[in-house]
Amino acid sequence: MKILVTGGAGYIGSHACKALAAAGFEPVTYDNLSRGNRWAVKWGALEVGDIGDAVRLRAVLDQHQPAAVVHFAAFAYVGESVENPNLYYQNNVCGSATLLRTITEYKPIPVVFSSTCATYGIPDQVPIPEGHPQRPINPYGFTKLVVERILADLDRAYGLRSVSLRYFNAAGGDPDGDIGEAHDPETHLIPLVLAAARDGTAVTVFGDDYDTKDGTCVRDYIHVADLADAHVRALKYLLSGGATCALNLANAHGYSVMEVIETAKRVCGKPIQVKMAPRRAGDPAALIGSSERAREKLGWIPARSSLEMQLTDAWNWMRKPQSSR
Ligand code: UDP
Repeated sequence: MKILVTGGAGYIGSHACKALAAAGFEPVTYDNLSRGNRWAVKWGALEVGDIGDAVRLRAVLDQHQPAAVVHFAAFAYVGESVENPNLYYQNNVCGSATLLRTITEYKPIPVVFSSTCATYGIPDQVPIPEGHPQRPINPYGFTKLVVERILADLDRAYGLRSVSLRYFNAAGGDPDGDIGEAHDPETHLIPLVLAAARDGTAVTVFGDDYDTKDGTCVRDYIHVADLADAHVRALKYLLSGGATCALNLANAHGYSVMEVIETAKRVCGKPIQVKMAPRRAGDPAALIGSSERAREKLGWIPARSSLEMQLTDAWNWMRKPQSSR
């Protein structure tokens, strides 16, 4: 059974393709390679195309006849979204709207959507449940919220069922070392901390005056292989008739930026230089998620909750020679 995976050449998308193939599905990656990597497409066909290109999309749908779509393709940097919101509204909102319209016109096959905890904004309570108000404080989070709303409307109007998966902070790499995180430019904390350990450079900490245990931001890190597993489960849920819903993917445990750095020092066995800097625009102090609903609906239990494990897998990937990718 073929599954169209938009953004399948990206970090989480490529790990999901591996998990889909392992579960007996045939992933077909649809990616414009603007941020994804051709080398990360290892478990199925690659169709190069843009989610905003309805003609190309329709041709790929007609050619492969997928039973469902897993939609990752998006820009995903909070800081960049604050600096260049047009880019985010154009790609994440307009592109997704075109994709979803084209799917609906093709036939209303189910959609697993890559959403985010950034749709919640500053939480009233942690761990955050799915019923928490969604008040994003940066354009990135708002673009994802808009797509969640579009999906809800498409179900009401056309019976297009979907699962929106609100991830907390994706971390780690493929435990077998086949693929890993490789953004260009890299802005995420964990790969930057590990690069600082590897290269002897400094990592910048954005803000140490938050109302948290040590003043630095707290995030709930979730292993990318656990995220990939949740996508396969969400897909099976939809293919067996499951109703539209939104589910958090999290570990219900938060680590501060300084705790990540301290753990990385142990995992890498190297010193890490730290540089303090002002807060980054758009960052809430603490984001920790409750994923009880994903456990109930999908039977999803994260297997790689420990930060050590996440950093170890990321570190093993980072030390691999680039030529082996
Ligand atoms: N962060 C940091 N230095 C960096 C990159 C990130 O201090 O070089 C902080 C950032 O402010 C946030 C946390 O690390 O509080 C996680 O950021 P990341 O960009 O990895 O993920 P996000 O939470 O934006 O999805």
